[in-house]
Amino acid sequence: MSTTMTITPEPATTGGNGDKPILSVRDLHVTFTRAGKRIRAAKGVSFDVRPGQMLAIIGESGSGKSVTVRALMGLLPPSAKVSGSADLDGRELVGLSDRKMRLVRGQEISMVFQDPARSLNPTMSVGAQIVESVRTHRPIGRKDAAARAIELLKLVRLPAPEKRFHQYPHQLSGGMRQRVMIAIALASDPKVLIADEATTALDVTTQAQIMELLVDLRERLGTAVIMISHDLGLAASYADEVLVMYAGQVVEQAETSELFANVRMPYTRALLEAIPQVSRPSHSALTVIGGHPPDPSQRIEGCPFRPRCVRATETCVTAPALQEHEAGHWYACWHPVTGALTEGPASGIDGEHGVVEPEEEPRS
Ligand code: ADP
Ligand code: MG
Repeated sequence: MSTTMTITPEPATTGGNGDKPILSVRDLHVTFTRAGKRIRAAKGVSFDVRPGQMLAIIGESGSGKSVTVRALMGLLPPSAKVSGSADLDGRELVGLSDRKMRLVRGQEISMVFQDPARSLNPTMSVGAQIVESVRTHRPIGRKDAAARAIELLKLVRLPAPEKRFHQYPHQLSGGMRQRVMIAIALASDPKVLIADEATTALDVTTQAQIMELLVDLRERLGTAVIMISHDLGLAASYADEVLVMYAGQVVEQAETSELFANVRMPYTRALLEAIPQVSRPSHSALTVIGGHPPDPSQRIEGCPFRPRCVRATETCVTAPALQEHEAGHWYACWHPVTGALTEGPASGIDGEHGVVEPEEEPRS
């Protein structure tokens, strides 16, 4: 195997603290027009990701998670209007021509989706598909590309890679297929790897194995990983930093340990309470958030979570700005919850639970 094909591991930068961001997104807006209606799917999203860091983007279905990362990948339909800025290692992605975006996509930033069965070609061996991906990124011969493909299969810890290389997608389990998808996504040594609900279709054990693989890859390769999930529990277990989205906006963001120790946004708290926990009595194990997220084609007055939040007051008719209220901890709420989840069944969320914490003075 020639040396040009080896993947050089960079020093592990767990948490990525102190590094310059590899991706900086600022005030990203995505608006669709459908049947004369404006659908505002992302509204002023900002975040940074550092090399070797895993950022989780969390939120209920429809909160704008996929739209946000698809905007970065240039994967939205022409009906989408994108504004704002996304700096990938010094290159602005917003407004890039299709031709230039195709070069960046898959090369510097790649994505793994929920359904590996649908993303893979059923009529081609997995090896051939990885070879194809390797050869679109670098001008190397078939033999070298095949060697690199095997190397990638080893990198994603697919058992018996030489044998699997010749097999077809249907001969692999769901977890193995997702490993193949990750291998394809890594074929170009991307700086940023996005996993959009990449483990959602898998059983719990396989889900954990794929998440551990992503954690391991970000450490071994220094790749920045953005994982998208509706499952806050998954983020709690694996991500370095969590960004919570609601109705197209970032409503809370902090390092994972800080977020779970000091959750502030009633919405995040509700998502947390929806995670089944063995340590909690079964009657309090599952809270379903009452109501629905707002229709993105309707104009929202004030805090978008207001109609579902029992902590809401007239103050919330004025939209709270996303602010760094505590060091590294950002949230957009006039009436933040206080105390860790373990302190009691405090919720502040609409539904059967009601408010159990004393009302605080709204921040002004
Ligand atoms: P999620 O957080 O579940 O990934 P999405 O980012 O997929 O949510 O969607 C956010 C909002 O944008 C949803 O209301 C969705 O209906 C809308 N949306 C997504 N894609 C399109 C599209 N191509 N045209 C119109 N609306 C869209
Ligand atoms: Mg999605």
